[in-house]
Amino acid sequence: MVKAIVGANWGDEGKGKITDMLAAESDVVLRFQGGSNAGHTIINDYGKFALHLLPSGVFYEHVTNVLGPGTAINISTLLKEIEAMEERGVPRPNLLISERAQIVMPWHILLDSYEEERLGSKQFGSTKSGIAPFYADKYSKIGIQVCDLYYPEILKEKINSILEVKNLWLKTLYGAQPVNQDQVYDELLRFGERISPMVGDSTSFLQKSLKEGKRILLEGQLGALRDPDHGIYPFTTSSSPLAGFAAVGAGIPPYEITEIIAVVKAYSSCVGAGPYVTEIFGEEASMLRERGGDAGEYGATTGRPRRMGWFDVVATRYGSRIQGATCLALTLLDVLGYLDEIPVCVSYDFDGNTTQDFPVTPLLSTAKPVYKMFPGWKCDISKIRKYSDLPDNARKYVEFIEESIGLPIKIISNGPRRENVIIRD
Ligand code: GDP
Repeated sequence: MVKAIVGANWGDEGKGKITDMLAAESDVVLRFQGGSNAGHTIINDYGKFALHLLPSGVFYEHVTNVLGPGTAINISTLLKEIEAMEERGVPRPNLLISERAQIVMPWHILLDSYEEERLGSKQFGSTKSGIAPFYADKYSKIGIQVCDLYYPEILKEKINSILEVKNLWLKTLYGAQPVNQDQVYDELLRFGERISPMVGDSTSFLQKSLKEGKRILLEGQLGALRDPDHGIYPFTTSSSPLAGFAAVGAGIPPYEITEIIAVVKAYSSCVGAGPYVTEIFGEEASMLRERGGDAGEYGATTGRPRRMGWFDVVATRYGSRIQGATCLALTLLDVLGYLDEIPVCVSYDFDGNTTQDFPVTPLLSTAKPVYKMFPGWKCDISKIRKYSDLPDNARKYVEFIEESIGLPIKIISNGPRRENVIIRD
């Protein structure tokens, strides 16, 4: 049985917490795209962790965690993440890295940083983790796969030929120092040795797991609106965070994914540049930002304050549809407990014409939100475990979202810890 947990918004919906929770009843947890450019915050008995590349099942000894062929592996970050967990008493995770996954190289990170600098005020808000240059190279067929680490001759040849171009680029366009070929080669060989016990054929492993009836969770990074084809291009990420792509990025038949849980936030947040219709500013935004998440809404990877806004039905309905969601998990509902009234954006206005369809990026930048106001519940709901115990106004809010998106909300997260959850039948 395969379930996907994916974001229906701009990312940071709290997927990590939901995955960590559902991982308890899973055998395999797999990341199918992206790299260490986003973070999942997980709070459990070991403490608080910001995972960047590791799948969110790493806290369970019975779970095999897989980094699928579609992921971007920054080996140095990965090793540091594993070490940081071990230092805090978490048993070494059971991790399988696909031999077909590709490696984030030093030049990807350099080019990402220099390019953002060059763009100045026009920058995309990249996390500078090298992800855009990484995927550009992958599809230009000048990427390096994990398996290459075990074929030194091929590896050396690839590095040398790639660096001929990259060093010219670094020098002429950015006036930067060239990357040393031998240093990169030696470091990669050392990395190869260190990760070799974790490297393998994840595709056969998954096929075997499916045959044995194992429970597999596919964990998406970021959210639907960051998809390069369907999202707010070019303010997107560089790989698809959609459940449809999960089959490809993991290496499993698409028809095996029978449940797609789209995680949506009870309000909204967004990092980086791009149109964001329900964005709020000033005091209104900082009140929400400071109360959001477990310690305020700040990027788990960059520490940047997140842009804040109200729940957007138009964007979330679209996001849930392109995910092909079969149900929703609504997170961070507890955060709204301070408000007298809660605005929800129900349509977009373009000079007097309203629409409920999510438009293309240039048009989206001109959309004005049309709000419907909901009365707040003005209390702490984080200890509630039964849906019927929620205050009337909180239930009305949940049911309005459910109705307007057209999908059942099966999970409500009402606090950052594992136990802060309401499961609805
Ligand atoms: P992800 O990338 O989708 O996993 O999301 P993040 O980890 O970036 O953001 C979610 C943040 O909200 C983290 O700080 C979580 O600890 C926290 N969190 C998750 N669910 C809830 C919730 O229901 N209520 C509160 N207050 N915090 C939550």
